[in-house]
Amino acid sequence: MDLQRFENVVAGRTCVSTTGRWLPTANPFDGQAWAEVPRCGEDDAVSAIVAAHAAFESGPWPKMSATDRGKLLHRLGDLVARDAERLAALEVRDNGKLYAEMLGQLRYIPEWFRYYGGLADKVEGRVLPLDKPHLLTYTKREPLGVIVCITPWNSPLMLLTWKLAPALAAGNTVVVKPSEFTSCSTLALMELVKEAGFPDGVVNTVTGYGAEVGPALCGHPLVAKVAFTGGDATGSAVYAAAAKGIKHVTLELGGKSANIVFADANLDHAVKGAISGIFAASGQTCIAGSRLLVQRPIYEQVSRRLVEFAGRAKLGNPMESTTQVGPITTEAQREKVLSYIDIARGEGARCLLGGGRPSAPGLAGGWFVEPTIFGDVSNDMRIAQEEVFGPVLSIIPFEDEDEAVAIANDSLYGLAAGVWTTDIRRAVTMADRVRSGTVWVNTYRAVSFMAPFGGYKMSGIGRENGLAAIEEYLQTKSVWINL
Ligand code: NAD
Repeated sequence: MDLQRFENVVAGRTCVSTTGRWLPTANPFDGQAWAEVPRCGEDDAVSAIVAAHAAFESGPWPKMSATDRGKLLHRLGDLVARDAERLAALEVRDNGKLYAEMLGQLRYIPEWFRYYGGLADKVEGRVLPLDKPHLLTYTKREPLGVIVCITPWNSPLMLLTWKLAPALAAGNTVVVKPSEFTSCSTLALMELVKEAGFPDGVVNTVTGYGAEVGPALCGHPLVAKVAFTGGDATGSAVYAAAAKGIKHVTLELGGKSANIVFADANLDHAVKGAISGIFAASGQTCIAGSRLLVQRPIYEQVSRRLVEFAGRAKLGNPMESTTQVGPITTEAQREKVLSYIDIARGEGARCLLGGGRPSAPGLAGGWFVEPTIFGDVSNDMRIAQEEVFGPVLSIIPFEDEDEAVAIANDSLYGLAAGVWTTDIRRAVTMADRVRSGTVWVNTYRAVSFMAPFGGYKMSGIGRENGLAAIEEYLQTKSVWINL
């Protein structure tokens, strides 16, 4: 089968790599390669950075008014909305997420471009009321320069949008490095960036292995900031490389989120929330509610209901509307998830559901893992401490609020948490006491362009989304004028 080719964009022109090499990308549903992208090297990374720097320093972009930058972002949002179905199908083919979920994301992604488009001309400085009348002193908010945006494979377009929209609204230029496993939808988005009318060089792409282009991207002196979403080991390497050159960073890393169900909760809602919290995108979300903390009086009942509910889930082709659980994005990740299932068994956790590859012949070619539930998990087990990034739920019992807080916070991570209760005092208290960047009460997985998102502790540094995010792409200048 001929592989569909996608190319990079640098300085407004499509290009392959100087290495002459290509990187195949496979469909997780059947394991077959269907497309290829340039396997770039260091020289390609440098060319993209130089192009972004040139567009930041001269040409139309730095002269453009903030209002006009905002209009371009609005236009890009409209184009993404127009092409939502095409982009969704492309990303499903690349990473195996359900088409219905992808379509939902793509209907919402335009709002990020519109929100930050609207914000572009509301970035203001201040005149300072100094006690020296002969001096006029004011502050200006200025872009940082070239931003490198590095994204993972689990939600390529959405997680890129969270970076691209505020970075451009603030007046920066960008080099995008998508995951080596899922670059196609990002490269398709670049056609829309051009169609929207962004000047050449404002957004550039570099595809290929992180190890081959990452160090050049994160260490180059012309780069002002690295905005990274991915695993914590890679995040740490990115942070170290950026530190050498004193660059700004935003790091959105892993999670081991506690989803806490109290005995007074509406259990119909809590069970549904727990299921979507862990099994959506086959558990490949940084916010996965992978530790389900259940109060002892309802522990057996909730466990049973979860097993019944998840046991009915239909695994299948992510393009089909009846499919509820799709494949894992890469074969290596599938093996990693299976190895954690073995570890959990070895640690003495009780496997209540799943625990392997599905046996249905129609799924044999794909990288599937059965929805898996472990009971009798204690929080010191590796299955409760380490990010699995797959459809594996660990159920942990607790007695009371204090113990729930202690277990939830006994984690290196702090990305998100859920609380299910009908007691408003308890809801507010728990939201105060749990150490994570997001706390959902009687809901799970809600995100918005308006709500800051990011991690406590090892889940990251900085915030994406909301007013907070544009600040991450700006710096302040003080101007003193002797009158
Ligand atoms: P990863 O860390 O393996 O890769 C992420 C990106 O970093 C890829 O584009 C990769 O090519 C690049 N990369 C690899 N080595 C690099 C290097 N030395 N320098 C620069 N870039 C390099 O992550 P992944 O496996 O693609 O994604 C899964 C991880 O992402 C999970 O840990 C998950 O929790 C995390 N994640 C976090 C969030 C969040 O918002 N906090 C959201 C989604 C995913």
